[in-house]
Amino acid sequence: MSKEFLGKTSSKYPIPKTMKAWVLGDPNEISLIDKPVEMPGKAEVLVKIDAVAICATDLDVISHGPPALIEGGLPFNKNFTPGHEYMGTVVALGPSVDEFEIGDRVTVEIHSGCGQCKRCRMGMYTSCHNYGLNYGNVNKGHRANGFTTDGGFKQFAVNNINTLIKVPDDMTDEEATLVVTAGTTMYGLTELGGLIAGESLVVIGPGPIGLLGVAVAKALGACPVILIGTRDSRLEIGKKLGADHTLNVKSEKNIVEAVKSIVGKKGVDYVVECAGTEQALNDAIMMTNRGGKICLAAFPHESVKVNIPHMVINNIYMFGIRGEGKSATHRAMEFMKQKRFNAKLVHTHTFDLKDLPTALKYARERIDDAIKIVIRPWS
Ligand SMILES: [Zn+2]
Ligand SMILES: [Zn+2]
Repeated sequence: MSKEFLGKTSSKYPIPKTMKAWVLGDPNEISLIDKPVEMPGKAEVLVKIDAVAICATDLDVISHGPPALIEGGLPFNKNFTPGHEYMGTVVALGPSVDEFEIGDRVTVEIHSGCGQCKRCRMGMYTSCHNYGLNYGNVNKGHRANGFTTDGGFKQFAVNNINTLIKVPDDMTDEEATLVVTAGTTMYGLTELGGLIAGESLVVIGPGPIGLLGVAVAKALGACPVILIGTRDSRLEIGKKLGADHTLNVKSEKNIVEAVKSIVGKKGVDYVVECAGTEQALNDAIMMTNRGGKICLAAFPHESVKVNIPHMVINNIYMFGIRGEGKSATHRAMEFMKQKRFNAKLVHTHTFDLKDLPTALKYARERIDDAIKIVIRPWS
C-alpha cells in the first residue's frame, strides 16, 4: 500500500502488496503471475474477489482479442487480466466513499462509463462514446472490467461505486456472479419494451443469457415464454426456469411453424435472439408478428444475410444490446433477492484459481454439460 493512500482500510482485511493474477500473453496463452494490488481512488473501493464466472465472451477475448480493447488495441501481451463476472467483499474504501462499508458483499457490473458523453448521460453507459479511452493523454475515465481495464481472474480489483450491487446474506457467492448475466437479459427486455406482461416471447439459444432470459421474462410476466434450442438437457433447465414451452430445432420440421402453432399464426410479439447464427436470425424475423421486436443478445462472428424486405414490410424492429446498461443489474438482483427464479440452476462447475486453464477448456468444449463455471480466487 502506498503511503499517500487517504481512504479507509481495516485490520480485519489485511491487504497484501501483491496478489495472484492471470494475464493474457499471445492468443490462448495465459499465465499466473504476481501483480501489485492497487488502492482505490475517489468514488472507488477495493474488492477482494471471492468468485468469478466464465462467460463465452471471455473465451473470445482470450482466443481472438475483441471485444477487449486495451490501450486502443488488441489485448495481447499487455499484462492484461480478463474476466468480467465477479463478486466479492469490500476491503478498502477510497477517500470520501460512504456508500459502502468494509465487509460489504458486492457483485460488480462490467461497465463504468465516462459519465460525460451523450450516452452515459442517458444511462446507456455500456454504449459509452469514450469506450476504451482510459489511458495516457486520452484518458476519459471509462472502465469495463475484463474488456478495457483489468478483469476478475485475480484476487483483488478496484471498482467504481457505480458498478457495485450489494449481495444479500442468504445469496451464495456463486449465485451472485450471475447477476451480470441476468442483468444483461434484463437490459434487453427493458429495451424491448419493459412492460412485457402478457406478451408472447421466444428465446432462441439456451446458453446462460438465454436461460436467464427465460427466467427474467417470466418474472416480468411475459406469457407464453418459449425456449428454442438444440440440447434437451438445456431445454429441461429452461423449463425449470419458467419456460412454458420448449422446442428442439433438431426434432421440429419447421421451427417458425412450431412457434406459430403455440402463439397463433400472426407470430410472436418478442424474440430474444441468443444464438447468433444466420439461420436463427432469419427464423427470428419470420416468427415475429407485424410490429414485433427482436433483441439481438448474441453476435455472429461475421456479417450475415437477413431478410430485410420482410422486416420492412412488417414493421419489425431489430436492435442490438450491449452488456448490462441502465442499471439493469439492480433490477435483476431484486428479482434474485425475491427468489423469483433460481439462477443457481445455470451454475454447473466450480474450479480453483490455479485451474483456470482447465475451467476454460470445460467452458469452451462444454465438457460434462458445463453451463456456468465459477472460479474461486482464494482456494
Ligand atoms: Zn459475460
Ligand atoms: Zn460515456
